[in-house]
Amino acid sequence: MLVINSIEKGIVIDHITAGLGAKILNYLDIDTSEHMIAFIMNAPSKKYGRKDMIKINDVTDIDLSDLGLIDPKATVNIIEGHKVVKKIRLEIPERVVDVIRCKNPRCVTSIEPNAPHVFVLIDKEEREYKCEYCDDIVSMKGDWQNEIMRKEWLRNKSRK
Ligand SMILES: [Zn+2]
Repeated sequence: MLVINSIEKGIVIDHITAGLGAKILNYLDIDTSEHMIAFIMNAPSKKYGRKDMIKINDVTDIDLSDLGLIDPKATVNIIEGHKVVKKIRLEIPERVVDVIRCKNPRCVTSIEPNAPHVFVLIDKEEREYKCEYCDDIVSMKGDWQNEIMRKEWLRNKSRK
């Protein structure tokens, strides 16, 4: 098996459903000129057969609360001094803003570039979300093809 050295400080996102790692990486949009990232696809997993895994070096303070939309089964560990100092349990979010793009070409978010993309949970079991504007429904459990939006770190920081 492929071995990647443990990191001294950073974030490990493990047990990602095989195939979703690339979508998570795209969403997080970590600046790779500043941070070292290890991305493992299709690693053997006792629990799920196959899994993806992401390790981000030297970053511990990013907001991962919306990751549960893409993959609530993934686990997040915060590492400091080579040890796990915090485990984050992902939850299925009730409402997400600017994480997935609405696919309906007649939706106001497809026409108006500054409109936020808002999806609201309507069925937790099926992980179904509804676009707040056009009522288009996407099941995040199935083989969804919605475009993942990149996290806008600077804008998020200035909001706080
Ligand atoms: Zn829509």
